[in-house]
Amino acid sequence: MPVRAERMSLLGTETAFEVLAEVNQLKAQGRDIISFAIGEPDFDTPENIKQAGIKAIEENHTHYGPSAGIQPLREAIAAYISRTRHVNYGPDEVVVTPGAKPIMFHGILATVNPGDEVIYPNPGFPIYESVIRFVGGVPVPIALREEKDFAFDVDELRSKVGPKTKMIILNSPQNPTGGGLSQGTLEAVAEMALRYDCWVLSDEIYSRMVFDGEFHSIATIPDMKERTIILDGFSKTYSMTGWRIGFGVMPSSLAVDVARLETNSESCTATFTQMAAIEALTGPQDAAEAMIAEFKARRELIVAGLNDIEGITCRTPKGAFYVFPNVTQACAKLGVKTAKELQRKLLYEAGVAVLPRSSFGSRNAGEDQEYVRFSYATSREAITEGLRRIKALIEG
Ligand code: PMP
Repeated sequence: MPVRAERMSLLGTETAFEVLAEVNQLKAQGRDIISFAIGEPDFDTPENIKQAGIKAIEENHTHYGPSAGIQPLREAIAAYISRTRHVNYGPDEVVVTPGAKPIMFHGILATVNPGDEVIYPNPGFPIYESVIRFVGGVPVPIALREEKDFAFDVDELRSKVGPKTKMIILNSPQNPTGGGLSQGTLEAVAEMALRYDCWVLSDEIYSRMVFDGEFHSIATIPDMKERTIILDGFSKTYSMTGWRIGFGVMPSSLAVDVARLETNSESCTATFTQMAAIEALTGPQDAAEAMIAEFKARRELIVAGLNDIEGITCRTPKGAFYVFPNVTQACAKLGVKTAKELQRKLLYEAGVAVLPRSSFGSRNAGEDQEYVRFSYATSREAITEGLRRIKALIEG
């Protein structure tokens, strides 16, 4: 076989998909596995959205569309983001993509030069670091700390931002910790971004899943609109992960570049999927709201249940559908050294799938505690049974 491209050694991955494949394989062998591994709602896509997609296919919305997305959806997204972020956006500032992930890939590709530094949260969604490295950028992690409810320390960020910084990546509410950034922190980030003329990629995919207080976007802060790429989408809020639809909202000149990257890669997002997305944004919101209320109830259930297990402590996250408990003592009790070993034990001895800290980046300097991520977007029965199994394994 001929030699493959060197750049492939730079590309990381999202281990959630590997664990998902392993869970499915174990289930196919007849094993009973409770999975907290993958970050997707267990609910079906709401009926009105499904019907809009079916109708769109029946009406033959099955052809190529514009790379930036169909105009009525771009308009609906601009109106939605203007309303929820309290800044005015027009449709030419919106790019629709197959899932929100391409906004990460193409947004970074369109803004970061080789050698540019990009600050990103750690632990964090693994694709940020992967894409930064892939484009030749220099990844600069900013630590999210348990004692700060998984926010970062503003002074620590200040020490990392400088003339080489090209972009700061934010994600609030956050995957994998469920942590959120306060308005004060966003204002400090905005001040740094303005001083050093950097972009902010604000991953707001969990913006509707804030359980305590309000959601804040950095785009709302004066002068930030022109340097912010908002990443958002339909996967989580409307339980549409498999439809593959998301979007980015950014200055119109950058939107042209990101759309050109779409032309060069995916051409466009499926047209009938976009028709369904219009219904998601403009139709009744009760199914999405009921799902979000249910996530809040499950948060209480899982946080209380985890704290009831010897050797596990769990903070109450602000949002998303993740908890990131400290399992250091549980590891010690079971005689394993790392969260990764604990994850294997939980999967094979308790039939419970979670993801270890290492799925979300390397340890920060001085980080000596062990963590795993639970996605609690699964039924209350599954949560209760999963916790029972873990408790039985750890407490014996
Ligand atoms: N950002 C974050 C923080 C996520 O957790 C995810 C999905 N796990 C995405 C982006 C990507 O979403 P999509 O499936 O719409 O591409």
